[in-house]
Amino acid sequence: MTSLGLVGLVVTVVASSWPGTVSRILVWPSVVLAVAALAGEVRPIRLSGEDDAGTLSTSAPFILALTAIGGVAVAVIVQAVASLLDDLLHRREARKSLFNTAQYALSVLTARAVFCWLTHAPFLGGPKLVEVRDVVPLLVAGLVMITVNRVLVAGVVSLATRQPFIAVVTEDGVAHAVTNLVLISVGCLAGVLAADGAGVLVLLVPFVVAAHLLAGAAARHAHLASHDSLTGLANRDQLRRSLDEGFTAAARTDGNGPGLVLVDLDHFKDINDTLGHPVGDQLLRQVARRLVSDLPEDVAVHRLGGDEFAVVVAGNLADAQHVARVLLRSLDDPIRVEGLDLLIRASAGVAVAPEHGTDPQELMKRADIALYYAKLERDRISTYAPEFDINTLERLHLLADLRAALEAGDLFVDYQPQVDLADSRIVGVEALVRWEHPVRGPVAPDDFVPLAESSGLITALTEFVLETALADLARWRAAGHDVRVAVNLSARHLSDLSLPPRIAATLARHQMPATALVLEVTETGILSDPARADLVISALRALGVGIAVDDYGTGNASLSYLKRLEVDELKVDRSFVSDIATDTQDLIIVRSTIALALALGLRVVAEGVEDEPTAAALREIGEVIGQGFHLGRPTTPGRLAEQLERQGGHSVTVGARGL
Ligand code: C2E
Ligand code: CA
Ligand code: CA
Repeated sequence: MTSLGLVGLVVTVVASSWPGTVSRILVWPSVVLAVAALAGEVRPIRLSGEDDAGTLSTSAPFILALTAIGGVAVAVIVQAVASLLDDLLHRREARKSLFNTAQYALSVLTARAVFCWLTHAPFLGGPKLVEVRDVVPLLVAGLVMITVNRVLVAGVVSLATRQPFIAVVTEDGVAHAVTNLVLISVGCLAGVLAADGAGVLVLLVPFVVAAHLLAGAAARHAHLASHDSLTGLANRDQLRRSLDEGFTAAARTDGNGPGLVLVDLDHFKDINDTLGHPVGDQLLRQVARRLVSDLPEDVAVHRLGGDEFAVVVAGNLADAQHVARVLLRSLDDPIRVEGLDLLIRASAGVAVAPEHGTDPQELMKRADIALYYAKLERDRISTYAPEFDINTLERLHLLADLRAALEAGDLFVDYQPQVDLADSRIVGVEALVRWEHPVRGPVAPDDFVPLAESSGLITALTEFVLETALADLARWRAAGHDVRVAVNLSARHLSDLSLPPRIAATLARHQMPATALVLEVTETGILSDPARADLVISALRALGVGIAVDDYGTGNASLSYLKRLEVDELKVDRSFVSDIATDTQDLIIVRSTIALALALGLRVVAEGVEDEPTAAALREIGEVIGQGFHLGRPTTPGRLAEQLERQGGHSVTVGARGL
């Protein structure tokens, strides 16, 4: 095709009757049109505010007028020069530039052929004055010129991107058609007016400007419908079209793909909230520029709204994962906004057709799940896997429900007695959060506490439990029961330096002594950020609050390490305790652990006391507090108050009865 166009160009130039052309040409009008064409090519209509977004050349009307009044050779030459100049300015590759020149030449030659055929003028016959009756032929020639141009370009794009030809040709159909019609009408006018000299062409200036503005507005309108106004990237509608095209292309070639990569910035909301929306907007614009920067020119980045971006990848899983890595890597360097260097991290979810989804909706959903998973697991890139579906969707819903439950006050707290095995008196209770889901029924804390921990909802959850537990404790203590309440902390709280003062405030509000509160932390919680945990724990102990090591024995902390941390209480995990009545191995472990802990001056709570023989075995070891189904299941504050009432000021036996 390229050679055909170039040969056509050369043959036309050589074979044209130059003496005839030169003698009959309207020199000044042609010069004016040529200059206008050059200007239209290198100063195209901008389709958006962004520099690198699409543009629309406005050389067509002047070239069209030239095909008539300048003759075919002049028109072809001017078009070739304009196109080469533009390519030079934009440093396009030679191969691309040759193609551009050739396809323009073919468009112009076809237009001239149509014009000559309709007006019976000779093809190579040089200039022809355009009279009123020639307007329709010129208009038709213009339409043919635009069509040939579009078909040739679309053919190449379709081959290169594997998109269906029809889709490329009809892209932004109506807006482009209207714009081109306006431009071609201007071209016809220019052709007619040129006969009256260059001066008259000046009359056309306002029309050209108006057409420019109008066409620009129309084009911008069309552009906006498929692009995001903040970043100039393609928008969600456009993504849907790109995905459709990707699926059609894959179906035609029996190939893989398309792949979809979704990218979401981490903690963008915090930046927006603390630095303000204008800064957030600037940041998004820069992020958009970064994301585009390292991708091949023909791969589009879409903004789906907020801080979420998407890229459709033609290719297999490895290709999509590669694009995901490239996208995230482009954000590695800090982004400078308003004199601040912001380090932006992002997560990416990848899904690829056909293995992860066989239509755009499904692929979109799967990539979304993968992205959610990447965030949840703090992986930076995660690829969809079938097991995410159930887990993740369920977790997503559960998390949303949990948030709602916290706001609506649908959570409550049960208390499990902690019993001094020597005299069977309840000396403390552990607060255990409960959730009665409106549809699922009761949800186990093991199912939703980790969820709350991974999402930051844990702060509100702990606050709720603490508040409730201290309010209940205040009632029991007011009734004369000298008990402690234990509240579970998650690992995250141990790196939160604002926790101790908040706890002090809550204690003060309920007028409870700090010594009546025990906070349970796990070994893993302490070890995940030991330096901070040390600070937080000492601040809590300075208040007088007791610290218990929960699930002791399941982690890696040595007793001596815990002793150095100055904890108050050790809760031996139920996996060691439950079987001590039958398993001598377990008995030895528990006995030595308890002996050592007591020798170090720690209070010992044995968890998982499920029967009387276990309680008896513990009683023999030493001064131990027991907690377990045999001594009392977690129960409501009302029931617990009754149990406390029953034990009154005296020892009561809390045994197997009625539990
Ligand atoms: P945990 O801190 O070890 O709490 C004790 C768990 O063991 C409770 O389960 C309790 O019902 C159960 N349990 C008590 N006695 C026995 C027994 O004799 N045998 C057996 N097999 N189990 C017994 P629950 O209430 O389902 O809580 C599970 C975990 O959820 C808790 O383990 C704790 O890690 C977490 N959790 C519960 N409430 C809260 C809370 O308010 N905040 C935080 N951060 N975590 C909580
Ligand atoms: Ca606990
Ligand atoms: Ca425990």
